[in-house]
Amino acid sequence: MIVILKTGVQPNSPEFQQILDYLGNKPNITPRVHHEIGSIQTVTEIYLIGDTASLDKAEVESLPGVDRVVRVSEEYRIIGRHRDDRRPTGFEYNGVRFDQDNLNVFAGLCAVDTPEHVEQMMRALRDHGLVCTRMGAYKPRTNPYAFQGHGKRCLPWIFDAAGKYGIRVIAIEITHDSHLDEIREALRRSGSPTGVMLQIGTRNTQNFELLKIVGRQREFPVLFKRGFGITLEESLNAAEYLASEGNRNIVFALRGMKTNLGDPHRNFVDFAHIPVVKRLTRLPVCIDPSHSVGGRERAPDGLLDIFHVTAQGVIAGANMILVDFHPAPAKALVDGPQALLLEELGPFLEDVAIAREAYERRRARVSERRERLQSAAS
Ligand code: PEP
Ligand code: MN
Repeated sequence: MIVILKTGVQPNSPEFQQILDYLGNKPNITPRVHHEIGSIQTVTEIYLIGDTASLDKAEVESLPGVDRVVRVSEEYRIIGRHRDDRRPTGFEYNGVRFDQDNLNVFAGLCAVDTPEHVEQMMRALRDHGLVCTRMGAYKPRTNPYAFQGHGKRCLPWIFDAAGKYGIRVIAIEITHDSHLDEIREALRRSGSPTGVMLQIGTRNTQNFELLKIVGRQREFPVLFKRGFGITLEESLNAAEYLASEGNRNIVFALRGMKTNLGDPHRNFVDFAHIPVVKRLTRLPVCIDPSHSVGGRERAPDGLLDIFHVTAQGVIAGANMILVDFHPAPAKALVDGPQALLLEELGPFLEDVAIAREAYERRRARVSERRERLQSAAS
């Protein structure tokens, strides 16, 4: 059960104390207080763990200072979308909004190789009005002899260029908790010109100790990739680890599933799960067409498969796109074959805009139909 307090109820107020006293007197109930600090207001929620079935929802709702009470199902207590749950989705970070209604494009390098390529990439983003990107510094590789990423050495290249080109949020995968400290330190040294979204890769989806550490900090939001060989339920439970430790600023990414049934694509594209994740949780949903498709094959209609699956994801309501670009894919040290060219950025964004407009029209039609039915019934 979640007790949502009215905005403005302070932790030191008599109402707050009265609510805690009331809950503290109930047998086998443990309250856990969570403050969600937003740019405009702070929302306080009290999570009740234990024998909540014995609590009278209406009685708790009648306490002064309580806005409403949500009974949660056992699964995905914090990230989940529960019955009568009208809480807003998403969050804002460094001036960029992430929720289940909007769309952000993170085009960038799979792996940072040279400062020049970082610079060229970010200049192209600025020229197209984009403020987010992806930049791989720590690369989890299948082969131990493959390039492992430049690590902390390349962070100053990334942050300095981000400041120069007005980039506000950069998705950077981390594979170890020490990377978190390295990112903090490099950001500080460069004067914190940008924001970072910590990426948990598909190989670490169930690295629970890493998830707990990333979940305990609330400075950076998290881009959480679905595990490529586990069920959706298992991946969502893993995302709940982040939230249960305190960080709810999570975007859930679909990146394709590992099975030969997806051949000839690198992974079986799983964007049909966008509405499913949006229904089960309040998390914004990202798609990664690059790692899903894995190549630059083109359909007979002239469009690259990566463009096609991106459009499929966007028309189904995706909220973020993580996509590999490279100024010279032949020279890329990781995943060159799936990288789009800088001159394809414009056409890519135009195609995304077409799909997004179609999604918005679909959504508007269904809400118009609903309103008509409701007014006919009343
Ligand atoms: C990546 O985005 O660079 C990456 C390694 O993705 P994934 O974890 O989905 O394989
Ligand atoms: Mn990659």
